[in-house]
Amino acid sequence: MKIKDMFKEKSPTVSFEIFPPKRDYPIDTIYKTIDELAIYKPDFISVTYGAGGSTKDHTIEIASKIKNEYNIETIAHLTCVTSTKDKILSTLDELKENNIENILALRGDIPDSYKNLNSWTPEYKYAHELITDIKNNGDFSIGGACYPEGHIESKNRVSDLKYLKQKTDKGLDFLITQLFFDNNLFYQFKENLELLDIKKPVIAGILPVINIKQIKKIQELSGCNLPPKFIKILNKYEHSPKALEEAGIAYAVDQIIDLMSDGVDGIHIYTMNKPYITKKIMKSIKTIRSTLNTNIS
Ligand code: FAD
Repeated sequence: MKIKDMFKEKSPTVSFEIFPPKRDYPIDTIYKTIDELAIYKPDFISVTYGAGGSTKDHTIEIASKIKNEYNIETIAHLTCVTSTKDKILSTLDELKENNIENILALRGDIPDSYKNLNSWTPEYKYAHELITDIKNNGDFSIGGACYPEGHIESKNRVSDLKYLKQKTDKGLDFLITQLFFDNNLFYQFKENLELLDIKKPVIAGILPVINIKQIKKIQELSGCNLPPKFIKILNKYEHSPKALEEAGIAYAVDQIIDLMSDGVDGIHIYTMNKPYITKKIMKSIKTIRSTLNTNIS
C-alpha cells in the first residue's frame, strides 16, 4: 500500500525506523529485530540507507523481506548526493522488482572525504532533484525529510522552509521530521507549513534517548534543542544508566501522547534497532492508539 493512502484511513499512523546491520554483523540479526517489532503491527517500517557506502546494499533486501515475507508495509530510504543518475535509475528498477511502493527521498549527508575534492561535481546537489527523477520513473509514494528546528547546514529557518516548499512542490506526498525533544517547536513548524501552504501529512520522528553518549552524538549531528525538563533528567540520571533509560522512555511516551492528543498525522519511532525500547513505548500507548483508530473507522 502507498503510505500517502494510509492517512485517509488512519490517524495517526505508527511506524518504526530500522537500519541495516553494520558491515561486520550478519544480516540475519536484523530479522530478529523485525520479528520483535512486527508484534506491534506498525503501519510501516522504514529502512535507512547509508550515505557513504557501508550499509546501503542491504536496504532493498531488508525492505523487500518486510513487505513480501512479513507482509508489513515498508519504505526504503534513498540518498542521492554521492550517487549517479544511472545508479538511481537502476535502484528504482530494483525497488519496482521487489514490489516496494514507498521511497524516502533524501539528499544524504556529504561525506567528509568528498567535501575537499576539487574534482567532485555531484550529479545530485539537493533532494528535490532526486524527487523529480523518482516522479518521472515510476509510480511511487514519495516521502521527504523535514527539520522543525531547521537543517543544520541552512542559513536560517526561513531559508530552510523556502527550500522545503520547493522540495514538496516537486512531488512529495508526506514528510517525516528529524527527531526533536520540544513539541512546541513541532507545533510552530506546523504553523509555518500552513503559512507556506504546505499541506502534506507530517509524521513526527521520535527518538527515545537511553544514554548520554547517544544524546551527545545526536546534538553534534542535528544541533537539536534540549528543553530544560529534558536537561534536568540527563543531569539527574547521567550516572545511573537504568534510571536514565527509564526516564528517556517515559519522556518519549509523554511526547507521543501529547502529539497524538494534538492530532498528529503520524508517529515514527527511531528504534535504533533496540526492540525492547519500542516494546515499552508501544505498551504504554496501546489503548490510546486503538482508541484513536477506532474513532476514525
Ligand atoms: P535537502 O532537502 O536537499 O536539504 C539539504 C540542505 O540544503 C538544507 O539545508 C536545505 O535548506 C538546503 N537546500 C535544499 N534545496 C536547496 C536549493 N535548491 N538551494 C540551496 N539550498 C538548498 N541520511 C542518510 O544518509 N540515510 C538515511 O537513511 C537517512 N534517513 C533520514 C530520515 C529522516 C526522517 C531524516 C529527517 C533524515 C535522514 N537522513 C538520512 C539525513 C539526511 O540525509 C541529512 O539530514 C541530509 O543532510 C539532508 O538531506 P535532505 O534530504 O533533507 O536534503
